[in-house]
Amino acid sequence: MGVLDVVPAGIVTGKNLLKLYDYCQEKGFAIPAVNCTSSSTVNATLEAARATNSPIILQVSHGGAAYFAGKGIKNDNNQASIVGAIAAAHHIRTVAPLYNIPVVIHSDHCARKILGWLDGMIEADEEYFKKHGEPLFSSHMIDLSAEDKAYNIETTAKYMKRLAPMGCLLEMEIGITGGEEDGVNNEDVENAALYTQPEDVYEVYTALKPIGDMFCIAAAFGNVHGVYKPGNVKLEPILLKRHQEYVKSKIGGSNNKPLFLVFHGGSGSTEEEVKEAVSYGVVKMNVDTDTQWAYLEGVRDYVLKNVDYIRTQVGNPEGSDMPNKKYYDPRVWVRAGEITLIKRVEQANADLGNINTL
Ligand SMILES: [Zn+2]
Repeated sequence: MGVLDVVPAGIVTGKNLLKLYDYCQEKGFAIPAVNCTSSSTVNATLEAARATNSPIILQVSHGGAAYFAGKGIKNDNNQASIVGAIAAAHHIRTVAPLYNIPVVIHSDHCARKILGWLDGMIEADEEYFKKHGEPLFSSHMIDLSAEDKAYNIETTAKYMKRLAPMGCLLEMEIGITGGEEDGVNNEDVENAALYTQPEDVYEVYTALKPIGDMFCIAAAFGNVHGVYKPGNVKLEPILLKRHQEYVKSKIGGSNNKPLFLVFHGGSGSTEEEVKEAVSYGVVKMNVDTDTQWAYLEGVRDYVLKNVDYIRTQVGNPEGSDMPNKKYYDPRVWVRAGEITLIKRVEQANADLGNINTL
């Protein structure tokens, strides 16, 4: 029994996505969501998941999507982020069948001031749905955690009503992930906001559940974007257990994990912390900082090792007329970054128990 007995290979949307996350909770593992910024990072992440025989989540942030479209494109109206996210989704949909694994296409944090980005992606979902009976993206995230709670929950519910008929899942955030990512800086947020209360999670649940099952919650438990010196904020995965218990105590039933939970800021967390969070029903863990670092490592080491072969197009220690083309071909040095990225995604799969899960 494995994931492929529950959902087919390919892009996972609608009921299959619920089945996938249910299966994660039942078997006690989670899937890494890797931020991708290019076809290179998408392909490397897919390659890693194929190597570990696992499902995978590929996501684009607002800035990452704009990068996908091209840094030369203006983004004053989210146009680069909209088109870049759509391009990423189509690229993933085009190549994913060759990897023969289940793939979730997701968009990352969307704050109030960039809701136009989410609107643009949802329009693309609706257009895709008309032709293919499923949304272009498997899921989106809306992040109004910096706004007041009533606005956050009400607006999230409004978006979920639009997405649910297409079978597109919505991730929301309540309580704030600390640190800095993609230009959003929460390094100075008040400590209490970094730990979501069970009552708040239940309030989200009661607002969204009547609309359907297709939502998941990123609740803050001292998690932080980025990698920092230890000691600033303490990670408290036990809070996630309390959320599950609290909601269960309110709604009854036998399900010990009534919530799909998302772990943001997975980079820099210890193996034990990750394992504990997963045991409380985390189904998705975002990894960005560590995979950015991993992508650089391979390129850095390549350059340092081959520095005498890449100073000039012709001429290296083996001879002043020796060509260097095979050293500066991007398929060699970008590939070096892909290989170290692949290793890091494989490690994320291992940390989350997502090895040989197909
Ligand atoms: Zn995040």
